[in-house]
Amino acid sequence: MGSFTKTIIASICVIFLAVKWTAPRFDEESLRGARVLVTGASKGIGEQLAYHYAHFGAQIVITARREQALQQVAEKCLSLGAQKALYITADMSSDSDPDKVVDFAVEKLGGLDYLVLNHIGSSLFSMWQGDVEHTKWLMQVNFFSYIQMAWRALPSLEQSKGSLVIVSSLLGKSTSPFTAPYCSTKSALNGFFGSLYHELAMKKSNVSLSLCTLGLIDTESAMEKVRGVTKLPAYPATDAALNIVMTGATRQLELYYPWYTYVMVVTKDWFPSVTNYFIQNSYNYIP
Ligand code: NDP
Repeated sequence: MGSFTKTIIASICVIFLAVKWTAPRFDEESLRGARVLVTGASKGIGEQLAYHYAHFGAQIVITARREQALQQVAEKCLSLGAQKALYITADMSSDSDPDKVVDFAVEKLGGLDYLVLNHIGSSLFSMWQGDVEHTKWLMQVNFFSYIQMAWRALPSLEQSKGSLVIVSSLLGKSTSPFTAPYCSTKSALNGFFGSLYHELAMKKSNVSLSLCTLGLIDTESAMEKVRGVTKLPAYPATDAALNIVMTGATRQLELYYPWYTYVMVVTKDWFPSVTNYFIQNSYNYIP
């Protein structure tokens, strides 16, 4: 190995260690008794988020549409160590339910330390067929309800020096076929909350904001869509959820999970043709 290569490898190792060394440490005790609202918690990543917060001794309110599923998740949260586990059913396509959920959590928990926005409405994994009505509906569920809940919760989060955690996607930063409506909603989230982050910082707000960029995660609904269509590896929902919890608790602006999501975001600007080739060829599609 030449001395130039050795210098490059050594520099990468030093940078990696420096980043690790200076990264904020996660103190799980900070979550004991924390008042947390998690949306989309009846299954998938939201359910796993609820279990991690429960394990760390938080007080939790969970929400989604299906009451029976929420009840089962809440019971499991209590058995895992949650100080409180309450649920409220809500449909985020409604104009009023987003506010109703925040008000319920603030009242039942006596305030709010974490608002974790994670829910998504169901959407097809297929070529765009011109369904504008579906895209409008999905915008309401995946985007407008997020900004409505964030606005409603901000006064409580200000009081508690709390955190706003947004679960987004690689598809909000880098586009992909078969997901045009979903990509639009996630790009909107990144744009809106990226802007809100600056405003909170400029106002010297107490509230931290975390934007979580996830790649393919092995939830039932994601796997149903991509089975047989892509060879991309899916990462475990419980691990994704733990990383989201830690990112919120350490008040970091961004999470990229798994690691390749960061590489994709960087390379799409540096090498757009290579990235586009890789994206289009990672799906089994015969026209
Ligand atoms: P799931 O489809 O597994 O879960 C979605 C949750 O949202 C469920 O709890 C569902 O419960 C709830 N929900 C659906 N529709 C509504 C509605 N109209 N009103 C209220 N709640 C609703 O999603 P994942 O766990 O896979 O994804 C979670 C987050 O992670 C999302 O923000 C997603 O974009 C992001 N992500 C996921 C990836 C993946 O590969 N899984 C990749 C990148 C990002 P119910 O049916 O009971 O209402």
